[in-house]
Amino acid sequence: MEGARWSGAARPLRIQIALSPSQPDDHVTPLPAVAVTATTGVLRGVVRVRANQSYTDAARSAGMRPFILPVLAPEDADAMLEGMQGLILTGGEDVDPAHFGAPPDPKLGVVHAGRDAFEIALVHAAQRRRLPTLAICRGIQVANVALGGTLIQDIPSARPDALAHESGLARSARAHAVSVTAGSRLARALGAESLTVNSFHHQSLDRVAEGLDVAALAPDGIIEGVEWTRDDWWMLGVQWHPEELVGTPEPWDRALFASLASNIDPR
Ligand code: MN
Repeated sequence: MEGARWSGAARPLRIQIALSPSQPDDHVTPLPAVAVTATTGVLRGVVRVRANQSYTDAARSAGMRPFILPVLAPEDADAMLEGMQGLILTGGEDVDPAHFGAPPDPKLGVVHAGRDAFEIALVHAAQRRRLPTLAICRGIQVANVALGGTLIQDIPSARPDALAHESGLARSARAHAVSVTAGSRLARALGAESLTVNSFHHQSLDRVAEGLDVAALAPDGIIEGVEWTRDDWWMLGVQWHPEELVGTPEPWDRALFASLASNIDPR
């Protein structure tokens, strides 16, 4: 399976050509545009905007048009979502505990002040705009903090009996079980209440923000999924990396991206 990318049943991208009123073409429906967050990193001496291709491939395969959002000032967040119909908050650096009023733990990893500020503003903008949002790994953490929750800064120090959530396994290797709340939006999206997931995190959610519900737990009690509780915003967060699992035989992660796509209103 290595290198075999899931390409789903996505329709080919087509450009909508302006037609005269006498030639209506209702066969072409533009695919939904989704914004995908990125980080910055130095490559060959130059600061660059970077995102893992697995996110954009997974979104494309689920029938969406992914657009990488550069890291910009927080006051640009709302305008950058103009024209976007969904948002994927991606994985990456630790979230600075200053955003939830905690001192830094000695095991706190690399943080990215600019990315934190921009993505916290993006969460608020996406919520205001009611943009369907899928928050992945760092994304679930940023969303929880933006909405008022807190994080465990380092699972091994805070929960010594926890599983190895930094599995050290391959990106597409399912490392631990997850149980999903029956009847939850996340369970409907995944099509399962019991699954196995990959795991590449040493932080996790601690106190869950008002408005979010825990929707998935690892066997050790670590939060692996949340969802917005009300009907005014389709927002799911997962602590694992579904974008790395869409090529596996199990359908859950493909279903998760498909659920994001199908919850975007055509407009
Ligand atoms: Mn995990």
